[in-house]
Amino acid sequence: MSDATKKNLRRAGVIGWPVSHSLSPLIHATWAAREGVPVSYEAIAAPASYDDFARVADQLKAQGYRGANVTIPHKEHALRYASAASQEARDAGAANMLTFRGDGAFAENSDIAGFAAALGDGHANARALIIGAGGAARGVAIALRRHCGAGEISIVNRTRARAGEIASIVSADVVDWDKRNAALAGADIVVNATALGMNGQPPLDLDWNKLKAGAVVVDIVYSPLETPLLAAARKRGLATIDGLEMLMRQAAPGYLAWLGTRAEIDADLRARLEAALTARAA
Ligand code: NAP
Repeated sequence: MSDATKKNLRRAGVIGWPVSHSLSPLIHATWAAREGVPVSYEAIAAPASYDDFARVADQLKAQGYRGANVTIPHKEHALRYASAASQEARDAGAANMLTFRGDGAFAENSDIAGFAAALGDGHANARALIIGAGGAARGVAIALRRHCGAGEISIVNRTRARAGEIASIVSADVVDWDKRNAALAGADIVVNATALGMNGQPPLDLDWNKLKAGAVVVDIVYSPLETPLLAAARKRGLATIDGLEMLMRQAAPGYLAWLGTRAEIDADLRARLEAALTARAA
């Protein structure tokens, strides 16, 4: 790399633990290559404690990084670290973007808009069932309530109290974990926001036959791409949206804030990500 290129290099990355599996570097490298901008976007490991996260974030800022995405287990740490945050990140209690600036770092949550964009339009007053109540489920709930115009929202989670916390933010109902199949029957939109169905995790234990005709089924898990939930929904002829659709869209705000001017979500980007997932599974 020439000195001139080094000088103009725009740097960003994704901080997580573990993080080597992250698809974010591939997304950002694809966009940067299309524009021909000199960019470095790396996967940066920071052990799970807040202190480790803050140390790594301080280092990146000192080294001139423009910003960083933040993934498991640091999304709450990112909010704590930031000197200021968007209203949505504060409401979600978690941030997946940190933009470094003179006076500190600004935290945002692009998972919320990413989920809403992946779901798309046409869901006004839809009845939604969110399965899960972790950090991702919070973002999904805020997206459904504020961006997608959902009507009744129900949240079912193994640990009921966590569902209750989210329900109070978005005016949702809480459903007991052992009543999840009954709740499935009435939903126009069903979202899996648990880690279940992910490689290495058990599948989501649901009675798929209860899914309503015409329901849209979303799984934010993307490894594997076709989770047991999505396979069952497709078998029933239902519309499905997989986790890559959200992943690509949550990445765009960071790229546009730190690295370049065009972040197209298209079939070529998706094909690259699918190929990376396939290569990883082989
Ligand atoms: P998290 O905060 O750790 O939450 C995990 C959720 O899964 C909780 O609701 C937890 O229930 C539930 N769960 C875990 N094991 C379970 C089990 N054996 N039985 C029942 N429920 C179980 O994780 P997160 O950050 O929300 O992430 C959740 C998933 O979303 C991950 O797979 C992540 O990769 C994915 N994600 C995808 C995107 C994307 O762009 N596509 C973005 C963010 C996250 P309890 O509350 O009872 O523990």
